[in-house]
Amino acid sequence: MNYKTTHGARNVAVIERNWLGGGNTGRNTTAIRSNYFYLESTALYDLSLRLYEKLGRELNYNIMLSQRGMMQIVSSPGEMEMAARMVNAMQVNGVSAELLDLAEVKRRVPIFNYAPDARYPVYGAIFQARAGVARHDAVAWGYARAADRLGVDIIQQCDVQEFLVEGGRCVGVATSKGEIRADRVGMAVAGSSGALAAKAGFRLPITSYTLQACVSEPVKPIFDTVLVSPMTGTYVSQSDKGEMVIGGGLDRVPSYGQRGNLPQLETVLSGLLEMFPIFRQLRLLRQWGGTVDVTPDSSPIFGESPLPGLFINGGWGTGGFKGIPAGGTVFAHLLATGGHHEISRPFDLSRFRSGHMIDEAAGAGIAH
Ligand SMILES: Cc1cc2nc3c(=O)[nH]c(=O)nc-3n(C[C@H](O)[C@H](O)[C@H](O)COP(=O)(O)OP(=O)(O)OC[C@H]3O[C@@H](n4cnc5c(N)ncnc54)[C@H](O)[C@@H]3O)c2cc1C
Repeated sequence: MNYKTTHGARNVAVIERNWLGGGNTGRNTTAIRSNYFYLESTALYDLSLRLYEKLGRELNYNIMLSQRGMMQIVSSPGEMEMAARMVNAMQVNGVSAELLDLAEVKRRVPIFNYAPDARYPVYGAIFQARAGVARHDAVAWGYARAADRLGVDIIQQCDVQEFLVEGGRCVGVATSKGEIRADRVGMAVAGSSGALAAKAGFRLPITSYTLQACVSEPVKPIFDTVLVSPMTGTYVSQSDKGEMVIGGGLDRVPSYGQRGNLPQLETVLSGLLEMFPIFRQLRLLRQWGGTVDVTPDSSPIFGESPLPGLFINGGWGTGGFKGIPAGGTVFAHLLATGGHHEISRPFDLSRFRSGHMIDEAAGAGIAH
């Protein structure tokens, strides 16, 4: 929830099963961007990016935002057509984006594999200069400190076990530390959304998968952007400490195992080495996985759940870190007023009944 208890909301409590920032927020690869196709997504994700741009100052907490740009590599002439369409869509929607040709990609990322027999040749790239990375723990801790100062109770090591229902309405939660009653209850539990929805007596259009990431040993600065290759399914950036932070697609099997399987790790790493043969000398330092909740249209869900009084903020799939400031803002609005913020309205659960999907898998090619 947004740390600002605006709209007159009082007596706000955040219940966390483990420790603050120990969920997917502490496990992600910290990439922030707003390169989406549809206006509804642009409104949400570009608001987020704009909020990120002033977050460090607002929280008086260094979130280590680094707008080093994100480069999405294009590997065929057909893809280049789609890239031009994507850049046009972003520009029309008021989000800056550039289409880079091969010469420009070479200039910016000289260490890529440009060999004539490279498996994934480069034709160009989509570049969003305002994209980048931020320190994930700092985002969680900065928000928590600000919320605490505004009087929000943050209760850690406290498990929500049941929802209290009276007269067909959610009136609070039963936790491992006792009951808490509330006018409105919000659920923002990422990969646990399906499990908690089951406790509340309904099903969400969500499938949970493991998403993995890994980091190499730290090396001196060699790589100054976030690079994504849809063809290899791998993305990489260099952390402030010098590690290569590496991620890729989902493990293909629905699972709650926060580890990840070996074949997917191998796919991601072989993609990395195809693109950057120079990284063959790097040693892998750590690997981990988190559970991500994926919706059929690759867009998040906001709104009142089928159990009145219980509100949802979930379904962020593999990309909710970048959505935290805007997601918090519209969720705070929902919880404080009981009604949608104009930005969250299109993301209501009802879209799966009405068919008004925000299908970014088809639009931006973001499959999850
Ligand atoms: C490997 C990986 C890489 C990723 N990379 C990126 C990226 O580069 N960019 C990006 O934008 N996004 C990325 N993501 C996605 C992003 O991390 C998530 O979408 C985002 O962190 C979700 O935030 P959240 O606050 O909704 O959930 P979380 O940070 O997961 O917080 C939910 C919390 O709910 C708690 N909880 C669950 N059940 C209960 C219960 N019953 N009672 C009490 N508490 C409970 C959990 O303990 C958890 O701490 C990545 C995810 C993974 C796993």
